[in-house]
Amino acid sequence: MRVLVLGAGQLARMMALEAIPLNIEVQAFDVRSNQIVDPINQQVLGEGLQQALRDADVVTAEFEHIPQAVLEPCEQSGKFLPGSRAILTGGDRRIEKALLQQAGVASAAYAEVHNKAELEAAVQQLGLPLVLKSALEGYDGKGQWRLKQMEQLDAVWTEVAQFLKQASKKAKQGIVAEQFIPFDYEVSLVGARGQDGSTVFYPLTENHHVNGVLSVSLARSEHPLQTQAEQMFQAIADELDYVGVLAIEFFVVGEQLLVNELAPRVHNSGHWTQQGADTSQFANHIRAVCGLPLGASTVLRPTLMVNILGLDQLPDALLGIAGLHLHWYGKTPRPGRKMGHINLSADTTGQLAKRFEQLIALLPEEDFPELELLLDKI
Ligand code: AMP
Repeated sequence: MRVLVLGAGQLARMMALEAIPLNIEVQAFDVRSNQIVDPINQQVLGEGLQQALRDADVVTAEFEHIPQAVLEPCEQSGKFLPGSRAILTGGDRRIEKALLQQAGVASAAYAEVHNKAELEAAVQQLGLPLVLKSALEGYDGKGQWRLKQMEQLDAVWTEVAQFLKQASKKAKQGIVAEQFIPFDYEVSLVGARGQDGSTVFYPLTENHHVNGVLSVSLARSEHPLQTQAEQMFQAIADELDYVGVLAIEFFVVGEQLLVNELAPRVHNSGHWTQQGADTSQFANHIRAVCGLPLGASTVLRPTLMVNILGLDQLPDALLGIAGLHLHWYGKTPRPGRKMGHINLSADTTGQLAKRFEQLIALLPEEDFPELELLLDKI
């Protein structure tokens, strides 16, 4: 069996690594170069999408910002899972917000904004502060503006209008103005839905961001909001007739979850499942899209994940810490780029905290800020 993944980054690579023991071959379509590559070593296997679509049994995606010209032939192939509607929903905040409303799932109140008058109307309707977000291509906090006070409105709109002017040549860019949520903390739910509608869920993961980018994920077994999160997942997955791994990011506000955004794919906050769960999110995505039974999501041991940003080397001594696993992506370093991650596991949460302390001591502080703040949370 052969799976073609749209996108050739680390998510395709980790899916390919998990597919090998299942006797499933994974090829990746690099949307920028139009080449078919082996996602493990980036070796070029061919050119163009059409032949690869014919040769694949299943087509899936590792990201949601995919041009329409690529999505269309994939959809027409009849092999695309979770399908272009799910990908378009994850890639456009306007569609995403509308879908959440349709599915009856709570998220921050919002308005679409195309000009200054509409922004003023949004302030009247929703109040301040507002978070303005680009509808397309926004991720890791990019394409976002905060409007805290009415006096800032002119200046903020000038910046947003400039952004829209530059972007409009490429695609139908737009702005979603969202109520600012004074959340307690952020969690995500990663789950998989099979072709037969069966589902498995991993425990909610608590996510810590630095400068808008995920820094640490900590799996939270027996979280009191797990059931609420799973019900929201079911409502969204049913609405999209979803097959594959779906990740949902939430704001926790007291006893309530509000959806921040959806990722119709395997997700950074699910990387801990490689060492912490019976079946990883990557294996379960491959199983789901290939029509195989899903694997158990049972947690094997307390695990956390630390992202490696911008660096392609760390002290070898890291590997001397018990329960530590390094996952490099083989990418060329650039400041802030996701280069790899560390999974750290232990038999108990107390032991995990001790190992995390050992890890913090070995990591360069300037590249891994704020880690000590998390020690109390384990
Ligand atoms: P996003 O790209 O939508 O995930 O946003 C990046 C980060 O900005 C989130 O992880 C939150 O920390 C913050 N953020 C986004 N939307 C809101 C909101 N409506 N209220 C408060 N903080 C937000």
